[in-house]
Amino acid sequence: MTDQIPPNPIPDAEMPDDAELARKLFAGPVNFLLSAPQLQFLPEPELAEVAFCGRSNVGKSSLLNALTNRKAIARTSVTPGRTQELNFFDVGDPHIFRLVDMPGYGFAKAPPAVVEKWRRLVRDYLRGRVVLKRTLLLVDARHGPKEVDREMMEMLDQAAVGYRIVLTKADKIKASELDAVIRATETEARKHPAAYPMVHVTSSEKGLGIAELRTAILTDITT
Ligand code: GDP
Repeated sequence: MTDQIPPNPIPDAEMPDDAELARKLFAGPVNFLLSAPQLQFLPEPELAEVAFCGRSNVGKSSLLNALTNRKAIARTSVTPGRTQELNFFDVGDPHIFRLVDMPGYGFAKAPPAVVEKWRRLVRDYLRGRVVLKRTLLLVDARHGPKEVDREMMEMLDQAAVGYRIVLTKADKIKASELDAVIRATETEARKHPAAYPMVHVTSSEKGLGIAELRTAILTDITT
């Protein structure tokens, strides 16, 4: 009878946890790939995608910069002419997944034709994109979801794209007010079939909730 030698267990300390893996992934290369003004210009669906959407001025560029620890990753999306396009960024080397910066909505003075163009692009992207693993819907923590955010939530529900609601600029309000907005937003989320019931609370300015969001995104692209 031979003695069975058990396989050498890897000590826990050497197993990087998800938070550390996520931190390393987002700290690595993040490169602008392309802007798609229409569906025909989308990149090949060869990598998992995580899309970011929200009202203009919600803090989307700041959140993308905070997640990737860079100063201006999302700058392309605010240059004139690029605001109505889907902007794609490759993350990792080799590429692991893509961040998709969706055009902001809710411009006060947007002409109906521009709103309609936005709606068609976003709806068609959401409906047809098999590699889209998750969408992050950003909502200003000072206000909670507004009517335009509810419309976006309904588009996501209809496309059956799972989404996380991310409250932004949490540093701008008092803790008690923030608690009330979190509760109200979670109540709203429970009414939407494709929404996660728990909301993420972030501040790009203070770094609040950023590491947790990176870890959640890593989970989204790997499960
Ligand atoms: P976008 O239009 O959604 O890309 O929004 P930006 O990222 O450009 O942010 C809009 C404004 O909100 C800018 O003046 C930012 O400096 C500010 N902002 C964004 N995130 C935060 C935050 O976490 N805290 C605070 N205090 N201000 C923020």
